[in-house]
Amino acid sequence: MSLKGKSAIVTGSTSGIGQAIAEAFAAQGCNVMLNGFGEPAAIARQREQMAKKNGVEVEYNGADMSKPAEIADLVARTKAAFGGVDILVNNAGIQFTAPVEQFPAEKWDAIIAVNLSATFHAIHAALPLMKARKWGRIVNIASTHGLVASANKAAYVAAKHGVVGLTKVVGIECADTGVTCNAICPGWVLTPLVQAQIEARAKAENITVEKANHDLLADKQPQVQFTRPDQIAGLALFLASDTASNMQGAELVSDGGWTAQ
Ligand code: NAD
Repeated sequence: MSLKGKSAIVTGSTSGIGQAIAEAFAAQGCNVMLNGFGEPAAIARQREQMAKKNGVEVEYNGADMSKPAEIADLVARTKAAFGGVDILVNNAGIQFTAPVEQFPAEKWDAIIAVNLSATFHAIHAALPLMKARKWGRIVNIASTHGLVASANKAAYVAAKHGVVGLTKVVGIECADTGVTCNAICPGWVLTPLVQAQIEARAKAENITVEKANHDLLADKQPQVQFTRPDQIAGLALFLASDTASNMQGAELVSDGGWTAQ
């Protein structure tokens, strides 16, 4: 598949799944707007390497996805840099775990802002640009936690269920416009976001990181394996392809059987 000449925003693409998605799109000839937090020197390196390796334009915008005005600016600057926004991948996300009665209100607000409201604000700003060109792809990175719940994840589960619901509404509203909106629901993917949970578990249960790793997977997934970031990127590429042009409001699950049970 060639995405030559197209342009994509991938939020939260300085790490983990977003980074793999940005690389996969660039490899298909797509210009990419990177976003996310990190060391300026490391981000500059990522940007240069991605551009050089793939012969595409790669820009970076450090919008804080919890801030609607910065999200609007991210979309406007992408249009200014590349002439449009053809693909929007809403990927930036954060996590915090605690029982609901101990869940700090500011953590609730932050997770809803970054994991859910940012998806709305980015779609709100980018969709008119896509509709004007009669082609667009919106890919929302939800989670198995958009479909089922786990204890101690009130904000994350609420946000991801919200993302799945928002995906369905936008998918319906985009019917026959040339724009599609779909979600990907990964189970466990080994990224810094999950590494923190593994290390916390090892400490809390006084077990090795290897055992915590295994137990985390085995608790949820019959297939005791992580999905790799590049496999999630493959699903995002699929959703951007012509093969997926009749998919609207769907969720693609890659979770080792977690939600099949
Ligand atoms: P990660 O921590 O490796 O990456 C998160 C990215 O989001 C980073 O680039 C970070 O800088 C960025 N980010 C965080 N807060 C931001 C903000 N306010 N503004 C802009 N950028 C911000 O995590 P990951 O595992 O790659 O997660 C990516 C997405 O995948 C998230 O939405 C997450 O919920 C989802 N997801 C992850 C897993 C998993 O097992 N890792 C499973 C299901 C869903």
